[in-house]
Amino acid sequence: MPAQIIDGNALSRQLRAEVASRAAALTTQGHRPGLAVILVGADPASAVYVRNKVKACEDSGVRSVFEKYEADLSETALLERIAALNADPAIHGILVQMPLPKHIDPHKVIEAIATEKDVDGYSVLSAGELMAGLPGFRPCTPYGCMKLIESTGQSLKGKHAVVIGRSNTVGKPMALLLLQAHATVTVCHSGTPDLAHHTRQADVVVAAVGRQNTLRGDMLKPGAIVIDVGINRNDAGKLCGDVDFASASEVAGWITPVPGGVGPMTITMLLVNTLEAAERRARA
Ligand code: NAP
Repeated sequence: MPAQIIDGNALSRQLRAEVASRAAALTTQGHRPGLAVILVGADPASAVYVRNKVKACEDSGVRSVFEKYEADLSETALLERIAALNADPAIHGILVQMPLPKHIDPHKVIEAIATEKDVDGYSVLSAGELMAGLPGFRPCTPYGCMKLIESTGQSLKGKHAVVIGRSNTVGKPMALLLLQAHATVTVCHSGTPDLAHHTRQADVVVAAVGRQNTLRGDMLKPGAIVIDVGINRNDAGKLCGDVDFASASEVAGWITPVPGGVGPMTITMLLVNTLEAAERRARA
C-alpha cells in the first residue's frame, strides 16, 4: 500500500492558526509578539527566505521588524544593532539570516543574540539546553520535523530512528530531539560506509543531506516514517528532496513530500518560538 502523505502545509496552517489566536490574546494584554529579521547583503535565496518569514509574521499577527543592510556592513555595526534589539522590550525574537558575508563571524553574531530571544535556537547555550533536556528554543527545522512525526500518531518510544546528516542546525539537534522522545537513535553522515544497512532497520528516517536520491525505497523498512529535509534541484530544475519519493512512497508507511513537507514547518516553528518568547516575557 502506498505511504500516507504527511502534509506539512496542512499542519502548518493548523499550527499558525493557533499562533494567531495566542498572538491576538497577548496583543490584547499589551504584549504583541515581535520578531526582528536581519538580512545582510543581497543573496537572492536569503531574500526569498526572509520575505517568507516576514509575511508569515504578518499573517499570524506577529509584528515583524525587517532590517536590510548592504553586504559591506561591518561586524561591529551588526553586533551593535543586535545589542540594541536585545534591549528592546517590544522585540521577543531576533533572527539573523545566514549565510553572512565572509568578513562577519557567524558564531560571534549568533552568540550576541540574547538567549531569551534566540528563536532560531542556534546559540551554544540553546544547544546546551537541548542537550540537557532543559526548556529553551529548539532549532526550527528539527522542531518542525518532530511535529510532522507526531502528526502520524505513532509513538517514538522504543522505535529506531536514523538521522542522515549531522549539521549543527539540522542533523545533531534532530538526533537529540528523537532521543528525548525515547527513540533509539543512529546518526549517519558522509563517512558512514553502508547507509542502507542502517536505514533498513529504521522505523523513522530523517534525511538531511542536501543530495537528491540519497534515500530510495529499497533502503527502507516497510511501514517506516520518512521525513525529507533536503532541498535540491533535479536535472530538470525542479525542487526535490533527498528522498526518491516514487520508490520510497511504495515502501514507507508515512512520507513528507518536497515541496509541502518540512519547508513550511520551519517557518511555522519560528513563529511558535517567537510566540513562546513573548509569552515568557509577558509572564516574567
Ligand atoms: P549540511 O550542513 O551540508 O549537512 C549535510 C550533512 O549530510 C552532513 O552532515 C554530511 O556529512 C551529510 N552527508 C553528505 N553526504 C552524505 C552521504 N552520501 N551519506 C550520508 N550523509 C551525507 O546541510 P544542512 O544544513 O544540515 O541541510 C541539509 C539539507 O536540508 C539541505 O538540502 C538543506 O537545504 C536542507 N534544509 C532544509 C530546510 C527546510 O526548511 N526544509 C532547513 C534547513 C536545511 P558530513 O558531516 O560527514 O559532511
